[in-house]
Amino acid sequence: MKDIVSEIDDYLRILFPVHRSITGEGNRETLRILQELIPIRMIEYPSGQQVFDWTIPQEWIIRDAWIKGSNDKKIVNYRNSNLHVVSYSRPIHKKISQKELFTHLHFLEDLPEAIPYRTSYYKENWGFCVSYNDFQRYFSNEDNFEVYIDSEFKNGSLSVGELLIKGESAKEYLISTYLCHPSMANDNLSGVILTAMLARELMHRKLNYSYRFVFLPETIGAIAYCANNQEAMKKIDAGFVITNVGGPGKHGYKQSWHANHPINQIIESTFRENEIDFITYSFNIHGSDERQYSSGGFRINAASITKDKYYEYDYYHTSLDNLDFVKPEYINESLQIYIEAIEKLDKNIIYENIFPNCEVMLSKHGLYPQTGGGLLPDDSTLNELDLTLWLLFYCDGQISLFEIAEKLGIDIHILYTTAEKLFQKNLLKRCDF
Ligand code: ZN
Repeated sequence: MKDIVSEIDDYLRILFPVHRSITGEGNRETLRILQELIPIRMIEYPSGQQVFDWTIPQEWIIRDAWIKGSNDKKIVNYRNSNLHVVSYSRPIHKKISQKELFTHLHFLEDLPEAIPYRTSYYKENWGFCVSYNDFQRYFSNEDNFEVYIDSEFKNGSLSVGELLIKGESAKEYLISTYLCHPSMANDNLSGVILTAMLARELMHRKLNYSYRFVFLPETIGAIAYCANNQEAMKKIDAGFVITNVGGPGKHGYKQSWHANHPINQIIESTFRENEIDFITYSFNIHGSDERQYSSGGFRINAASITKDKYYEYDYYHTSLDNLDFVKPEYINESLQIYIEAIEKLDKNIIYENIFPNCEVMLSKHGLYPQTGGGLLPDDSTLNELDLTLWLLFYCDGQISLFEIAEKLGIDIHILYTTAEKLFQKNLLKRCDF
């Protein structure tokens, strides 16, 4: 069997060139390729469908685009990079002056080798993106150009991939990633591949909770999915938006909107256990699809574990966010952090002591050492009896197991084993499960 790093590498190479946008064949092709890994169900929301305050746009088809200089030579060619054409550009074919062309040309003086990524989803427009080096080489001394964009808008649909992984409880966590960006590796092909690998891993495990995986275009896809799955989405308490997980820079995480939610503490404890230095980004109204999931109607605590977070690295939204920048090893590092965090989240059950009135008689339930008097309270380590007593003390149907583990300074996995023993003996019940 192939090791996971080379598998990630394969999928980076296969999926990187696919031209994705908020709609279109590139997104469907991406989902079909991911179906090799996991049984994603493809959902299509038709153009024109009203989703809350938004309308699903028409599908955008792009076949070709170029700019020719005066000697009839192509100086920009979409075939070389799908970032050259502004996403959702309308069709155009005409001779054009330098002055007019420059209002439709995007480049970055500060990053002269990079082609920027630009979109115009909701305003009819057209445009090209070039590197500043190419701009200087081909555009600054010419007056007349020919521009050609062979694009089309049609009534089609917006494609979403969904996978529900059932655990013992029907209570779900949301795991969402966005696939609308064309050829950029960290933002967000890294997140798409990690999410698929994570789903495959969880499918082979016995889980307490259920997990709702979605692959969708950012913003409009998340809005469309929320609008079409209101009942299920409104029941979800927490989850992850997986994005920007494969850069060479530092690990970090964006907190969910409620900073005290256990999901944030679980992520931090996972970093600490792995001795990983990390950056904490507090919740901000700018960002990714947590903007939709955490809105007033849903209030899902969605956090993101990152490695070179969007906005934070120089190559963000440019052609230099490519396969030289992103490495499969980095994505795998982030994947392992996600897996460990979810292992904790999956055990973060809220229990309630069925016998809260004074202490339970432990010996009656086979939970007390046979001979009394020999046990001395010992603060340095917590033995099984201590954990039993603490659990019966704390579990009131409000506090979660992870929060108790933090109070006791003990690994949640150890505490969970004792809690489940008390659950089996009908001393604790699981709440909201
Ligand atoms: Zn982005």
